[in-house]
Amino acid sequence: MEKREIINMFSRNFGNLYQVYPDSLKENNGRFFFMVKDDQQKYLSLSGLPEKVRVLNFHADKEKSIDCNEKVLFQICSLTNHNLTQLRQILDYLNPSCTQMKPSFGTGDRLGIATPAHIQAFRDKNIFPVLAQQSVREMERTESHWQKVLDNAIWGCFEKGYEGPFGADADHVKDLNNLQKAIECGFTLYTLDPSDHINEHMIQLNKEELKKKYQELPEKQEIESIYLDKEYHIENHQLIFIHDKLAEIVLTYGEAIKHIEKCYQFLKKNHQGDFELEVSIDETPNPTSPLAHLWIASELHRKGVDFQNIAPHYIGDWEKGIDYIGDIGTFREEFKLHCQIASEMGGYKLSLHSGSDKFSVYPIFANESDGYFHVKTAGTSWLEAVKTIVMCQPALYREMHDFALKCFEKDSFSYQLSTDLQKIPNIAKLKDEELVHLFLDNNARQLIHITYGSILREKDERGRYQFRDRIYKLLFENEAIHYQEVTKHIQHHLKLLNL
Ligand code: ZN
Repeated sequence: MEKREIINMFSRNFGNLYQVYPDSLKENNGRFFFMVKDDQQKYLSLSGLPEKVRVLNFHADKEKSIDCNEKVLFQICSLTNHNLTQLRQILDYLNPSCTQMKPSFGTGDRLGIATPAHIQAFRDKNIFPVLAQQSVREMERTESHWQKVLDNAIWGCFEKGYEGPFGADADHVKDLNNLQKAIECGFTLYTLDPSDHINEHMIQLNKEELKKKYQELPEKQEIESIYLDKEYHIENHQLIFIHDKLAEIVLTYGEAIKHIEKCYQFLKKNHQGDFELEVSIDETPNPTSPLAHLWIASELHRKGVDFQNIAPHYIGDWEKGIDYIGDIGTFREEFKLHCQIASEMGGYKLSLHSGSDKFSVYPIFANESDGYFHVKTAGTSWLEAVKTIVMCQPALYREMHDFALKCFEKDSFSYQLSTDLQKIPNIAKLKDEELVHLFLDNNARQLIHITYGSILREKDERGRYQFRDRIYKLLFENEAIHYQEVTKHIQHHLKLLNL
């Protein structure tokens, strides 16, 4: 039986009910696997000689035998975790793996349906894709969970027929409970966020207060014997741990290091197979100074924590869904120093969070890091999905926009933003075809960017979703446009990074 025959046979018998994704078709040991969709949802189709199909353990919703020269059994299976688990055992490239220090790019997918579009964007690019990526906060806002995030990305790989490597990032994990759950699902990259253990207010203490707190530190002696007045020559910079600076850094980050160490030991004990570790200190009020970066990396090594990425809080403003705000020259100089520290301290990747749409930064980021970089995006794919809504059903967008305006204040608390709602045009005065221009407006972008959780969770008085089901339905029915918009936008990101 040939691949083409299977598709022809399927189309002859089921063509009025299902549409085939031809790229997805795979053969293994005389069995054929491909994705199909009806007018509501997608399914896995499995076919082959009945005895070959039945020996597998897929749960089929429907099946039908067709007599040709020989009998062929077709099964239609829902996209469940059970069925995916079976499929991953047969097609082992559907399992995530580690980036192996290659330049990498994360495509968070808040709706869980954009992976095929992301894969398309990575074609011919020498950047390792991290296709499953969601933070604990995003999962709360999208009512998702680790397994769903991972499964959605893998079904996306299957749909696209993708056989290359990809990573899975459990992003911004703050505690062992969430870490445990992510480990059970088989993520390959764990981004530990110790921000609950970072004492940001140390920077505001006066000399006396700082001194007093520092004197009380049990590990003071040990730390001083290693770092006090030690000079590091990083290229043409000299970094010295003078007393007050050392005290401030230790008091600010000391507990965070202990937390990372605890999580790392937990990972080592409980994780089966290879994994990579990212330490993210980006969600802090203050930028991470090069000296603090140096100390953190050095301490992590000293405690035996094997990490692959660090995400410092770089100088400047890294707002959601828009380009970098700040002096790009200052960023470049300080970023160079961060790169040299990373290289000097054994070589690890520098990670850029809130990486969506930071177009002016990418060439510097890729160049100066010499390819030792990781970039995370998420909101930008959500914005492209909303742009698709604007293009296909402007009335739905108008409702979402008005709702977002009401939620903005409540939703903006966890972000650093400069959004000015007054500058967003009154959409009642815009024609449908003008709405798409809102996506060029930073204020409108941020409005939609940060209110995604409220939009996706809002329910009416009868408990039905206000927008969610309509959003998914529209994107399902206009999949080609949705994929095209996402691919185009991510390609633009990758082009600037793939130097
Ligand atoms: Zn982050």
